[in-house]
Amino acid sequence: MTQAMKTPTEPIVLDLTGMTCAACAARIEKVLRRAPGVESATVNLALESAEVAAPDASPANLIAVVEGAGYGARLRSRDPKARRHESEAREAERRRELRQAFAVFLISALLTVPFLVVMAAMAMGHHVHGFTPEIQLALATPVQIVAGWRFYVGAFKSIRGGSANMDVLVALGTSAAYGFSLYQMIELGQAAEGHLYFEGAATILTLVMLGKLLEARARRSASSAIARLMELSPPVATRLGPAGAVEVPVEDLRLGDRVLVRPGERVAVDGVVRDGASELDESLVTGESQPVAKHVGDAVVAGTINGAGAIEIEVKAVGDDTTLARIGRLVEQAQIAKAPVQRLVDRIAGIFVPTVLVIAALTFAAWMLAGAGLEAALIAAVSVTVIACPCALGLATPTALVAGTGAAARAGILIRDIEALERAHAVDTVIFDKTGTLTLGKPVVTDVFTVGPGARDMLRLAAAVQASSEHPLARAMVAAAELDGGALPVSGMAHALPGRGVEAMVEGRAVAIGNEALMRDKGVDLAFFTEEADKRAAEGKTVVFVAKAGEALGLIALTDPIRPEARAAVAILHRAGIDARMATGDRGDVAERIGRELGLDRVAGPLRPEEKAALVRALSAEGRTVAMVGDGVNDAPALAAADIGIAMGSGTDVAMETAGITLMRPDPRLVAASLDIARATWGKIRQNLVLAFVYNVVGIPLAAFGLMTPALAGAAMALSSVSVVTNALTLTRWRPRNLM
Ligand code: ADP
Ligand code: MG
Repeated sequence: MTQAMKTPTEPIVLDLTGMTCAACAARIEKVLRRAPGVESATVNLALESAEVAAPDASPANLIAVVEGAGYGARLRSRDPKARRHESEAREAERRRELRQAFAVFLISALLTVPFLVVMAAMAMGHHVHGFTPEIQLALATPVQIVAGWRFYVGAFKSIRGGSANMDVLVALGTSAAYGFSLYQMIELGQAAEGHLYFEGAATILTLVMLGKLLEARARRSASSAIARLMELSPPVATRLGPAGAVEVPVEDLRLGDRVLVRPGERVAVDGVVRDGASELDESLVTGESQPVAKHVGDAVVAGTINGAGAIEIEVKAVGDDTTLARIGRLVEQAQIAKAPVQRLVDRIAGIFVPTVLVIAALTFAAWMLAGAGLEAALIAAVSVTVIACPCALGLATPTALVAGTGAAARAGILIRDIEALERAHAVDTVIFDKTGTLTLGKPVVTDVFTVGPGARDMLRLAAAVQASSEHPLARAMVAAAELDGGALPVSGMAHALPGRGVEAMVEGRAVAIGNEALMRDKGVDLAFFTEEADKRAAEGKTVVFVAKAGEALGLIALTDPIRPEARAAVAILHRAGIDARMATGDRGDVAERIGRELGLDRVAGPLRPEEKAALVRALSAEGRTVAMVGDGVNDAPALAAADIGIAMGSGTDVAMETAGITLMRPDPRLVAASLDIARATWGKIRQNLVLAFVYNVVGIPLAAFGLMTPALAGAAMALSSVSVVTNALTLTRWRPRNLM
C-alpha cells in the first residue's frame, strides 16, 4: 500500500478486541470493506487495530459493523490527552485479560500434567498403569469447561458472524475428542481404557492456551518500541509566565509560550532555545547516542533529554505536531500497512478454516470407508482439525514488520513505505546526492575572482540576488556578504533555476548566478574565467559565475566539507556488494575529485534534477535495483524515480512524508544500515511464512494418515505460533553495524 498520496481526510483508526488469529483479521477487514462509505480498510493483527479510509462513514457505524461480526471495536481519539487515557485503560484491560488467561492456563496445566506424566512414562517403556476412566474424566472435564469456555465463546461469535476462525477448529476438535471418549466410557465401561482421548482434549486446550499467552507477551514486546517512544514525551512542562514558573499539562501549552527545561529533564514540546545552553541527548529521536550541544536559536525536540544546563525554549509545536508524534504516527502507519505478500496470506487465511473442515470431513469419510472404524476415523479427523489452525500464518508477517520497523526507528531510521521494505532487499546500486548528503551542506565562500567591479561589490550583488533563496550555496553567499558588511543593492524577485542557479533584476539589469550550463543558456562568454574556474574546481571547490546584462563579472568559489562519515558509508556499502555512486548538479571535475576521495564507483555531473531522475530510470532499465539518497527538495524527482527513496533529514526538520525511508540524522552510514534492517525484516517475513506453512503442509497429511495423536497435533500447533513470534522477536535485537 502506498501512502504517498495523502487522502484529504485522515483515516479512522479503531482499536479492536477479540481477534484470535488471521482468519479473524481477514473477516473484520472484509466486513469493514463492505460497509457503506468505506474506501479501504486494513486490519493489523499484531497491533489489534484497523485503519479505515472512509470519508463519508460515521465511526459509530463502523464500530457497529465490527461488533456485528462478533468483535469489539473502539474509536481511537485524536486528542492526545484522551488517547493517553485510552491507551492506559487498554493496557490495564490487556493486563487483566492476560492475568485471567494465565490463571485459566495454570488450572488446566495442573490437571493435564498427570496425563503427560503417565504418557511420558509409557513412552519410556515403563510399565505403569494408566488412570481409570473415572479419574481421566475427572481431570479432563474441568479443563474442557474452564479452558474450553473461551474457545466456545469465540467459535460461537465467529459462526454467528458468518465465518469460521481458529476457535471453531479448537472447539470442534477438542469437543469431538472429549465427547467420543465420554461415549466410549458409557458404552464400554472399564474396558474403555486405552480407547479414551481425554488427555488429547486436555493437552490441546492447555497448549493452545500456553501458545496464546506466549504470543500475547511476544506481541507486546514487539510493539513496545513505539509505545515506549510515545510514552517518553512527558505529560507536564514548566511554563514561564508573569506569575513565574508554573507546572502545566502539555496540552495547555500554546505556540510561543516559554518553557523552562531543567537539567536532566525531558523536553515536552518542540521548540527553539531562547536562553541558556546545554547538551541534549537526542538518541530517542535520531538514534544518535552522543549528546548534541544546543545554544540560543537551536531547535530542540520533544522526547530528548536535557543535559547539565537549564534552558528556556519557545514552544514551536505541541501534541500531535511534534516531531516525536509524527514519527510515532508514521511508524504506526507503516506497521498497520500491509506488505503485498500479506494480502495473499490474508486471502489464504480467510478460506483456510473452511478448507480444513472439508479436509477433516474427507479424512473421516476415507477412514470409515477403509473400514478402520469410528475411533480411528474420528481421531484422525480431530488431529487434522487441530494441527491446521492458521494462527502462525497470520502472525508471520505482522510480527516481523512490527519488530523490524520498531528496531529501525530506534536507530533513527523511519520506514514509511512497506513496499520499499520489500524492494530494499534487492538493492544493488545506491546513488548519493552530493550537496548536503555526502557533504555537510554548509558551504563557505573561499574566494571571489572578478574583473570590473571590486570583489566585495560583486559579492554584495550576488548576496542581494540570493537573499530569498534557500539553496545552501545561496546562504553561503549571503553569509559571506554579511560578514563583510555594507549595504546590499536592491534586488527584484529572484527566480530559481533548479540545478543551475538563479536570476533576478537588479537596477534594471538582469543578473544571473549559476553554473556553466546556466551561463551557456544566457549566452554569457566565460572564456576569460575558464582557467581560474578550472584551477579551483581541481581543488574540489564549487564554482559559480556571476553575470550582469549578459556579461560575466566574475566567479565565486565555495567549499563544502565532506561529511566525516562519508568514506565509511561508501566502504560499508562496498562490503555488502553494493555499487555506490554520486549524482550532482556540480561540475564533472569536482564530482570526480570527490568520487576519488570517497572511493565511489562512479560519479555523474553536472546533472539537473530531472536528469538525476533520468539517470535513476536508466539504471533501473539496466535491471538494477536503485536506492536514491538525497536531502530533499531538489532531489524529489530522483527520489520518486528510484526503487527506494531515502531522504536524509536533519532530525529536527525532516521531510518525513516524502520518501519511503527517512534517516533522522544526516549520517550517510545509515543508508547501509537501513538496507540492512530492510533485508533482515524481509528475510524474517519469508522465514516466518515458510515456517508457518511447513507446519501446516507437513502436519495436515501426517494427521490425516493417522500418524499423529490429537495431543501431539495440539502441541505442534502451539509450537508453530510460538516459534513464528519468537523468530520475529529476534529482530528487536538488531542494531546498526559499523557505527562508532
Ligand atoms: P547538488 O546536486 O550537488 O545537490 P544542486 O542540484 O542543488 O546541487 O545544484 C547544482 C549546481 O547548480 C550547483 O553546483 C551550482 O553550480 C548551481 N546552483 C544551483 N542553485 C544555485 C544558486 N542558488 N546559486 C548559485 N548556483 C546555484
Ligand atoms: Mg542537494
